[in-house]
Amino acid sequence: MVRIGAVGELFGTDGVRGIANEELTVEMALNLGRVMGTLRRGRIAVAMDTRLSSPMLKSAVIAGLTSVGADAIDLGIAPTPALQYYVKCKKEVKGGIAVTASHNPREYNGIKFIQDDGREFTRDMDEESERLYKSKAFKFARWDEVGQVYYDEYKRLYLDGILSKVDVDAIAKRRFKVVIDCGNGAGCMTSPQLLKELGCEVISINSHPDGRFPARNPEPVEENLDLLKKTVKAVKADLGIAHDGDADRATFVDEKGRFVSEDVILALMAKYYVEKNGGGKVVTPVSSSRCVEDVVKEAGGEIVYTPVGSPVVAETMLKVNAVFGGEGNGGLIFPEHLLARDGAMSFSRILEMMALEGKPISELVKDIPKYHMIKTKVPCRDKLKLLEGLRNEFPEANFTDGVRIDYEDGWLLIRPSGTEPIVRIFAEAKTKKRAQELLDMGMKAVKKILG
Ligand code: MG
Repeated sequence: MVRIGAVGELFGTDGVRGIANEELTVEMALNLGRVMGTLRRGRIAVAMDTRLSSPMLKSAVIAGLTSVGADAIDLGIAPTPALQYYVKCKKEVKGGIAVTASHNPREYNGIKFIQDDGREFTRDMDEESERLYKSKAFKFARWDEVGQVYYDEYKRLYLDGILSKVDVDAIAKRRFKVVIDCGNGAGCMTSPQLLKELGCEVISINSHPDGRFPARNPEPVEENLDLLKKTVKAVKADLGIAHDGDADRATFVDEKGRFVSEDVILALMAKYYVEKNGGGKVVTPVSSSRCVEDVVKEAGGEIVYTPVGSPVVAETMLKVNAVFGGEGNGGLIFPEHLLARDGAMSFSRILEMMALEGKPISELVKDIPKYHMIKTKVPCRDKLKLLEGLRNEFPEANFTDGVRIDYEDGWLLIRPSGTEPIVRIFAEAKTKKRAQELLDMGMKAVKKILG
């Protein structure tokens, strides 16, 4: 199983993930459907990404829901944020289930639970789900009380939700030429159309649903985006956009065909929101680049750090009434829209920024401070011993998730993995040399403690 910062044996920070039909089976999907149907009485919306195993797992989830008396609304293929927005908007819908492995490789799939306000399940809710899953204390419905299956259309609701929040006229006036790479994932259903409705000239690549992912791996990181970079250059586009498998993330290529770092986009958007609101809080995990904190503080805002994982970022945003939040992987959260990552909302705001400020994307990101981040991992079997040792070694550090030590010119994060017997070490500084120095310091401390 792929589990990052595990909650228990089954649920990771992004629901349940594994190789389809091997680690994540139909039987598990069936029982996960029963868990959701038991926890959230009423209607549950279900959506899936384009993976080959998604129809199989979605059918099992729906069978599970209906067997305990919950009604299912089958939305078909939908981006995860579109499902979340649907659940948030429809009062009678008590929750959602996304069948998706997001950015994971082709052979994976996953199941993620959504709350009635559109947010992902919190850690506590995942723990409760896991307990119920293990106990199998399901109350099966009598023959005349089994749930029913309904079908609904989510697209117009979702697209209008985004269109109502951005300055469509300003964007449309500029007639931007945009290349969109949906990576054959769920973004195919909505993103090319949204760009058209924003008045853009749209060139789409890898934008038909195909669960074999013939063109590229679903993760929209730079090494998977050669075709996008080349196409942006060839057609002289203003912007290139790439999604992951369920389109809750978006990454960008500038008008010169260069990939823009996800951290830089996070900082750019954070700055835009703090400036627009005349201050406010921005929430991001402790693993995010210092460039975010720099621009937020300079614009008069405040940064709030959380452990790694998007549900805890969203939960914290709600708690501190944040103006914006996000992760340094292309997952941005716009609280006025949805307390969850949304790739289509991300590119709509980027286009709005380009239109209102009258600058190409390369100009907009020019002033974001430059840092170098390097990462490594070290085997570690005794995490408690390590954490205790680190507390003694760095008493002044930030213990939000692992240990983060901030310096004037950079920082060091030592974070034990929640699932694997390893510890990850991150270092970031203004120069590569200094980042390496900090990383070496972290390695030395870990080795000293673990012996
Ligand atoms: Mg995703």
